[in-house]
Amino acid sequence: MTKRIFRTICAVAIGVFLVSLVLFLTVLYDYFSGVQLDQLRIQTELAAQGVQDEGMLYLEGLSIRDYRITWIGTEGGVLYDSVSDVEEMENHFEREEVRQALAEGYGTGSRSSATLTQRYLYSAKRLPDGTVLRLSATQYTLPVLVFGMLQPILIVFGAAVALSVILASRLSKNIVRPLNGLDLDRPLEGNEYDELFPLLSRIDFQQREIRRQKEELGQKKNEFETLTSSMAEGLVLLNAQGTILSINRAAARLFGTDERCAGKDILAVSRNSELGEILEKARDRGHGEAVLELGFGKYQVEANPVFSGSEVSGLVVLLLDVTERVRAEQLRREFTANVSHELKTPLHTISGSAELMAGGFVKPEDMVAFSGQIYKESQRMIRLVEDIMKLSHLDEGAADMTWETVELYALAEETVRLLSAQAKKEEVELELRGGEACVYGIRQVLLSIVYNLCDNAIKYNRRGGNVTLEVRQEAGDCALSVTDTGIGIPQEHQKRIFERFYRVDKSHSKEIGGTGLGLSIVKHGAALHGAEISLESQVGRGTTVKVVFPSSPGMTINM
Ligand code: ADP
Repeated sequence: MTKRIFRTICAVAIGVFLVSLVLFLTVLYDYFSGVQLDQLRIQTELAAQGVQDEGMLYLEGLSIRDYRITWIGTEGGVLYDSVSDVEEMENHFEREEVRQALAEGYGTGSRSSATLTQRYLYSAKRLPDGTVLRLSATQYTLPVLVFGMLQPILIVFGAAVALSVILASRLSKNIVRPLNGLDLDRPLEGNEYDELFPLLSRIDFQQREIRRQKEELGQKKNEFETLTSSMAEGLVLLNAQGTILSINRAAARLFGTDERCAGKDILAVSRNSELGEILEKARDRGHGEAVLELGFGKYQVEANPVFSGSEVSGLVVLLLDVTERVRAEQLRREFTANVSHELKTPLHTISGSAELMAGGFVKPEDMVAFSGQIYKESQRMIRLVEDIMKLSHLDEGAADMTWETVELYALAEETVRLLSAQAKKEEVELELRGGEACVYGIRQVLLSIVYNLCDNAIKYNRRGGNVTLEVRQEAGDCALSVTDTGIGIPQEHQKRIFERFYRVDKSHSKEIGGTGLGLSIVKHGAALHGAEISLESQVGRGTTVKVVFPSSPGMTINM
């Protein structure tokens, strides 16, 4: 801007100087031409008087060099000329100044020379005898005069240019300084130009408006971030090209990055090609979704486009944790497959035995063994179905069952009573220790827990072994432990025995009538009561399973 002002001032100053020079010279030239013409007139008057008095003698006696004198006769022919030979001169009646003098008594005229370098001024007077006396003076034309004065003109011009440059430089800086000094955050302070007031007022208004909108946006951004950062679901906002505009903490964690990845491409950040397909679908078909493995879990990824007019201006991606749901579905599928498999074996045995019996292929003496087999397998099926029903009941939260304060020691006594015959058969000694301990819970479920643990301790024991049930109040909690002197559980199986249908030795478990669901029922029952299970086992030495229930009543129930 300074340069532009500088150039403009220089151009204006030089332009004004040149125009002034031309006008000045023209006016001056005209003025001096007028003065010269006036002098010429006076000279003409004087000469006319001389010619009038003395005629040709006067003219011939004159010795002048600055003027040319011509005496024109009444017929237009030249009688005398101080410069040319009169014989060679043409008729002068057509000359402008002569015609004027003949008509009005006095006439003037001016003509340029053929080369345009000179100008002739004429002054003519009619004498009383009808002849005309004309005086002529020569002057240089304006361009010739200017050319003659070129050197001083150039010096003055140079001085004027130098002065213009200096003044223009200072002036432009002075004009621009207050503008440079303006603080656009507070535009109305320190303004030296009244003309700028409307513009600066508008800037001031806009600045305040921008500040207000910025604050509003900041507040909204904070609200949005607070909201999304506390979300368990991942949320990502993308522009149409897939660049991250906003990403919440949960989503950033899933992609193994942090919120600073905003501004980067989502595919570069996630390094997941399936996500690219989901986004493509969302762009093309209006919605894209799939279950992806992100981090350590499974996530339902849903993408929807954001439209501005008919154009897709962005995408919203939501990531929902479905690990549990997928796992539950998987477990359900496995459970169904296991149940079918577990039921198939006894059914095949029953059907095979019954077929042989019906076909009369079984000898009468084998009849008892065959029907015993059918009975055993159907009992196994009954137990299996009962366990499955118990388990699915627990899965549903056993909502129809009554919660009450149950005395666990009495429950353990009942279990010992129920299992004493079996223990005797297996030659295992059952012992009950401890004292009264109350648990707030569901009696039937608590009985299943004690019964299954005790049943396993007998089943997986050795002849002459012991099973000790102990119920005691421990630091406000109620602990039940079942210890046996049985075969024990190898370390690598200890974590898995609580899974459905998991057995350490499948054939042995089946042989002794196990369903593989007993410990699952214990686990679910304990979870329903908010109890903790711990297991200690040594192969060949025995196993202790301990269940610690939270104190009753007023305990927390985690379902
Ligand atoms: P099962 O009906 O086969 O007994 P459970 O779910 O009750 O099914 O037990 C799962 C497996 O854990 C059993 O098959 C067995 O191998 C092992 N197990 C459970 N309790 C004991 C124990 N007290 N001693 C040794 N092994 C045991």
